[in-house]
Amino acid sequence: MKILVVNAGSSSLKYQFIDTDTNVVFAKGLCERIGIEGSLINHKQLLKSIGTTETAPMKNHADAMKLVVKYLTDAEYGCIADMNEIDAIGHRVVHGGAYFSESILLSDDVLAKLELCRDFAPLHTEAHLMGIKGCLEAMPEKPQVLVFDTAFHQSMAPDAYIYALPYEYYEKYGIRRYGAHGTSHRYVSAEMAKLLDKPVEETKIITCHLGNGSSITAVKGGKVMDTSMGFTPLAGVEMGTRCGDIDPAIVPYVMEKENLTPDQVNTVMNKKSGFLGVSGVSSDARDLDTAIKEGSANSERAQLAINILVHQIKKFIGSYAAVMNGVDAIVFTAGIGENNAALRELVCSNMEYLGVEFDKAANATARGVMMKISTDNSKVAVYVIPTNEELVIAKDTAAIVAAL
Ligand code: ADP
Repeated sequence: MKILVVNAGSSSLKYQFIDTDTNVVFAKGLCERIGIEGSLINHKQLLKSIGTTETAPMKNHADAMKLVVKYLTDAEYGCIADMNEIDAIGHRVVHGGAYFSESILLSDDVLAKLELCRDFAPLHTEAHLMGIKGCLEAMPEKPQVLVFDTAFHQSMAPDAYIYALPYEYYEKYGIRRYGAHGTSHRYVSAEMAKLLDKPVEETKIITCHLGNGSSITAVKGGKVMDTSMGFTPLAGVEMGTRCGDIDPAIVPYVMEKENLTPDQVNTVMNKKSGFLGVSGVSSDARDLDTAIKEGSANSERAQLAINILVHQIKKFIGSYAAVMNGVDAIVFTAGIGENNAALRELVCSNMEYLGVEFDKAANATARGVMMKISTDNSKVAVYVIPTNEELVIAKDTAAIVAAL
């Protein structure tokens, strides 16, 4: 099947057009500044390795979708003759609350439930709703499927997702662990399970999705046993600009000392912390590496920011191995996980207690490709597996549409 994968943001829309029979991406692109002056589309036809950028008015997501279809069917930059060749549309949705534990075909009921998810991720949900409605307007006949970042984590048990707060907060407000990056954790853990010589039900895998946002997940028997992100994507390990887990008592303390409102302290924790906050250099791991190499003024703090992340990843791996009663494999994925060999080496050094025998030479060459970075004798396999959330979305969409 040929599936259009859509990732709608509030003023942007990313897309990929994927053939799920061959896993080939025919085209991809990005519409930017939707609803703002100077909106533009950047479209790439990957079969011919050509691309183009056009400044074109897009007052809403429906206009953007019409432009995407125009380019997919364009004589020069297109990859299909007409719209009939689009079998269905698959949407990435950031938060499905506790309503969605798997991908689902769009219906009025689904749309009504998605509206309720605004509480958990207001900006993202609003953007997804605009994307979905835009597709309904531009391509009313096409089936649409929603694929949720939170769905995989719905397989967690209450011991892992209930916070030790008054239980009524869970009942009244839905305060619990939801996790994030679920589509990525699901994909890389499934790829890893295929490489292990045992039935999926018996596998114990720890997946480290390390990007601008980072999360670590314990996947036992194909189900999530625990994950580092929580009620929001602020929890877990240190990130580009997010603080990750901190003592919750720090929040009211800092609010009082710095005279901050809830919104302001939220901004500090989400946008001014993490790598950026600790190093004072940047939110990007590459910039920290450069600062360390050049020995610039903030190089010690840049190193500290990296060391904090390494320390925290080690703690998550150790604790997840503990709750799963062992671990067969550790997987690194996303921008940092796939490309930052030095960080992977720091994480996996001194892990002999767990049965990790790290292959430094293999690790040094592993960059953006699937690769084993542990020795053949290692009790725990360690892999780099590039994530592919779009492929999961396309495959889920094709499977649901095929069954109609
Ligand atoms: P997002 O979470 O926004 O999808 P990414 O997964 O691309 O972001 O991760 C961004 C992080 O990954 C940055 O800290 C960046 O330094 C790092 N990164 C991305 N690509 C590379 C690369 N080719 N080499 C080294 N680091 C990279």
